[in-house]
Amino acid sequence: MKQDVLIEVKNLEVRFPIRKKKLFSSEVRQLRAVDDVSFDIKRGETVGLVGESGSGKTTVGRAILRAIDPTGGEVIFHTNGHNTDIAHAEGEELRKFRQHMNMVFSEGSVKLSTMTADRLRLFRSKMSLVFQDPYSSLNPRMTVRDIIAEPLIASGMMKDRDAIDARVRDIAGRCKLNLEHLRRFPHAFSGGQRQRICIARALVSRPDFVVCDESVSALDVSIQAEIVNLLKDLQEEMGVAFLFIAHDLSVVAQMSHRVAVMYVGKFVEYAPTERLFFHPRHPYTHALLSAIPQADPDVEFDPIRLDGEIPNPLNAPSGCRFHSRCPFARERCSEDAPEWREIAPDHHVACHFAEEFDFSRPHA
Ligand code: SF4
Repeated sequence: MKQDVLIEVKNLEVRFPIRKKKLFSSEVRQLRAVDDVSFDIKRGETVGLVGESGSGKTTVGRAILRAIDPTGGEVIFHTNGHNTDIAHAEGEELRKFRQHMNMVFSEGSVKLSTMTADRLRLFRSKMSLVFQDPYSSLNPRMTVRDIIAEPLIASGMMKDRDAIDARVRDIAGRCKLNLEHLRRFPHAFSGGQRQRICIARALVSRPDFVVCDESVSALDVSIQAEIVNLLKDLQEEMGVAFLFIAHDLSVVAQMSHRVAVMYVGKFVEYAPTERLFFHPRHPYTHALLSAIPQADPDVEFDPIRLDGEIPNPLNAPSGCRFHSRCPFARERCSEDAPEWREIAPDHHVACHFAEEFDFSRPHA
């Protein structure tokens, strides 16, 4: 095991059965939302995950958190003995929590993909999720204090009211929320402030890993920049790792240390951010990057038009899934599925001819 790896995803697969009714019978087909995805996330790093709508980005994030049960593969959480936050545990139930977490952490690595529901409930304090819509993800009947405190109480991590209040005030302050407003209800806040409340709730249990699922997409551009800066500051202070799912490549570039590109349920490229943005090797990554608007009028803006729609994962193309839209497709592409391989240190690609392509772009 590599020392600083926090989450290891091996051959992850998520299928959804789709029942199609016929006249006297029904047929069950499998929708392969995520197919044979392997990657890792290091402690304290941000991995950006991009792709068109329907490519399976959200399903990957939720399968890692076990909000959706994977149908194949493994998700391993490497604890490395980093037992971070059970200092406030009290009482019999909390003593058990402490024992359990110590036991889990002493194991060094835990397999999330097969963890039982009981263990998973306790382990959830180490992982969290920030949703896209800050309006629908906050309970309008709860005060901000209670919303932020909920993960501590639900996991059984803390019970003492004063200790919970202190923790809530600490994380609310870090998220730059006004502490005078903790007794207010969500409707009294703007979209940006609500997203700060969502982030405070996600980080209150001091998790090691948070999935941000399109967490800035619904916000104005100026508020997006504030939230991105806040997430980066919190990462530096708390050492949390993020899986940052988004379709806006420029936001992903600002936020991420490494970036993965998905197409119809599969990863097609994964590399450090600068390498992926300036030296992509997969034709799909090249097409996505060509569509980023350029602020500099001297830089040519010539987006590549991909023919057709993203294929339905129920009828995913044979061979390379991108072959029906790839401007560089050859005969082999429709027959052989390309292998997921490392073509340079830390740079993975799934394309038969990746070494032949040079899509390097000038640095802005
Ligand atoms: Fe295009 Fe073929 Fe590479 Fe797929 S394997 S991306 S179809 S060139």
